Amino acid sequence: MTDTEQHSPATDPALLDALREHVQGALPTTIADLSALVRLPSVSWSAFDPANVRASAEAVADLARSTGVFGADDVRIVRSAVSGATADVVDGSDGELGQPAVLAVRPARNGKPTVMLYAHHDVQPQGDDALWETPPFEPTLRGDRLYGRGASDDKAGVMTHIASLRAVHAQFGDDLDLGVVLFVEGEEEFGSRSFRTFLREQKEHLAADVIVVADSDNWSTEVPSITVSLRGNVTFKLTLTTLEHASHSGMFGGAAPDAMIPMVKLLSSLHDDDGSVAVEGLTSYEADVPDRSDDELAKDAALLEGVRPVGRGPVLSRMWFQPSITVTGMNVPSVANASNTLLPTVSARVSVRVAPGQPATEAYAAVERHLRAHVPFGAKLEISEPDAGDGFLVDTAGWAVQEARTAMAEGWGNQAVEQGIGGSIPFVSDLAAEFPEAQILVTGVEDPDTRAHSPNESQHLGVLHRAIASETILLARLATRG
Ligand SMILES: [Zn+2]
Repeated sequence: MTDTEQHSPATDPALLDALREHVQGALPTTIADLSALVRLPSVSWSAFDPANVRASAEAVADLARSTGVFGADDVRIVRSAVSGATADVVDGSDGELGQPAVLAVRPARNGKPTVMLYAHHDVQPQGDDALWETPPFEPTLRGDRLYGRGASDDKAGVMTHIASLRAVHAQFGDDLDLGVVLFVEGEEEFGSRSFRTFLREQKEHLAADVIVVADSDNWSTEVPSITVSLRGNVTFKLTLTTLEHASHSGMFGGAAPDAMIPMVKLLSSLHDDDGSVAVEGLTSYEADVPDRSDDELAKDAALLEGVRPVGRGPVLSRMWFQPSITVTGMNVPSVANASNTLLPTVSARVSVRVAPGQPATEAYAAVERHLRAHVPFGAKLEISEPDAGDGFLVDTAGWAVQEARTAMAEGWGNQAVEQGIGGSIPFVSDLAAEFPEAQILVTGVEDPDTRAHSPNESQHLGVLHRAIASETILLARLATRG
């Protein structure tokens, strides 16, 4: 090696050991910093005190400065306008701005790549306090897990980035040539309302070759995952109307159609007898999946004894790669208020999960075509409040995925499972649209027992350790890439 070449963990086992030692030695500090973040109840929903989200942004900015990777002026707290907000929604407060994000930038040198590290510092509300075994904003260690709202989702993601940057800085010091963009959002749990404006406004600072989104989960506490696909989603309100007004169901029932008969028939046309989606034009993605038995599904999803799974094909293909349709709410009189009348109008909220690879707008058009073609008795059909978010497919042939596979194997001691996620992370497709050249790696710190968004959320500390080790090795590999 010449003086100008840096040692790489790919070729230098001593460097790999040194990185691991940095991570391990810093673990108590990392857990203390994570606990301090958990004490800040940074719920981003509009009904909650925004001062807590501001405090957590300040805390994350301080953590970013503590890494040594960024110059004092290169760590900023940024608020951007909510998409679609206009001057006339300004109500004297600063309600038109999104919640504060933290942005820190270190430019690349000597032809090295730039990596963007994404996480979010806001959290879900705690829900019913009575369901928590220990107070949600008092971080509590029990066994291998740290309990608290946001302990995992996604303050452990924040700390994975911070701890990895600290370890890389400890090793490379000012010789670090890797470009780093740390972007910690403040309103992921509230729909990332200002995300698109932020991406546009900060585009020149955000450009990266590799984007690491640390907000997903792992196969188990011992086996990591790279999330390689996300389903998209489409939701809308479906309303059927048959009568100008309600009428006595004894007088007219049997001849005049109430709105419920066509609604039930129309909704049932969305699925075949085996429960698989029956809408022409909704596509599926074809790829191999790990095995999961019907019994495992029944246990994981809490099916009652005797209830059979729906759909066809491998279980995980149904949840990751095929479309699904769920009715999530209906506007009908309650049972207590039921009177003997024909209902003139009925509404349903319909939620469609879209297979990765199919644009959400195309899926929406297919479902709308199906509904209009199948509505019985000439009932008046109205579709309103549509919302659509694209899914996401990683190009697993990219060099960054290969680097991540290697780094995860070295950080965890086990090969990563390449998994799909049945849910949607709409901002990931926004990132992909704004930065089509970047390779996006969706990693995470959760495991199947994390209970993100639920009472008794927790972070497995072994997983946190392994996630930090992997990300540190990944950054070192990128920093020394020839
Ligand atoms: Zn999250």
